[in-house]
Amino acid sequence: EGTIRFEDVRFSYDPDRPILKGVSFEVPAGKTVAIVGPSGAGKSTISRLLYRFYDVGEGRVTIDGQDVRDVQQKTLRNAIGMVPQDTVLFNDTIRYNIRYGRWDATDEEIEQAAALAQIDPFIQMLPKGYDTEVGERGLKLSGGEKQRVAIARTILKGPPILILDEATSALDSYTEKEIQDALERVSEGRTTLVIAHRLSTIINADEIIVLSAGEVVERGHHSELLTQG
Ligand code: ADP
Ligand code: ADP
Repeated sequence: EGTIRFEDVRFSYDPDRPILKGVSFEVPAGKTVAIVGPSGAGKSTISRLLYRFYDVGEGRVTIDGQDVRDVQQKTLRNAIGMVPQDTVLFNDTIRYNIRYGRWDATDEEIEQAAALAQIDPFIQMLPKGYDTEVGERGLKLSGGEKQRVAIARTILKGPPILILDEATSALDSYTEKEIQDALERVSEGRTTLVIAHRLSTIINADEIIVLSAGEVVERGHHSELLTQG
């Protein structure tokens, strides 16, 4: 469940400047597909069309055959978990941040999600002041720790579809590896769209799609693309 299809999708923010010029691909249910390409290629635009921040110009985006335009916004957003590059946290406890959007969750469920994401020691603390002062119960969360909060939130939400949009791009290489491992565990069994500008950051994708200037220029598996350079 959760097959994503882009069918000849065309999109532009400004009428005279096409951003996606006929993009087609499929992410079969439970599989992981990565979109790789240089900055400005249109990768994030693809995730915004799936999440319906914008509607496609021409073509179709479907989930299990249903046009996303026919799915209620709330239903769609419940079905999709998103881990962005920089997670913005609310000035409330980590517990609140994990629970965000799942107000029916029990303490036990929240604690389990926090433990799986390995952020449980911080659960009662405030991320407040991570750029300025560290308050009494405050804590200066690192980039990796903020991603762990996003991961815990996703585990608790439990969506069938996952978008990882440059989720490890802002991290140093050691932290990146740790967060990648955690993301791979979360993506297990979910339909996952990974967005990245470097091929080296993609590990377990079933297919990699190379996007350049709004067009798919290459597709294949990791080893094939690496040997082609
Ligand atoms: P990528 O994720 O591959 O870096 P994006 O999908 O973010 O690329 O952006 C593709 C192009 O669309 C870029 O040239 C960018 O400047 C432009 N763009 C992105 N968002 C907007 C917007 N809200 N309004 C106008 N142009 C945008
Ligand atoms: P967008 O800002 O792109 O419209 P969302 O509103 O879904 O997207 O928010 C993106 C992220 O920012 C989510 O992880 C959400 O929890 C977080 N967020 C949204 N509003 C706030 C806020 N007022 N304070 C802190 N974080 C927020």
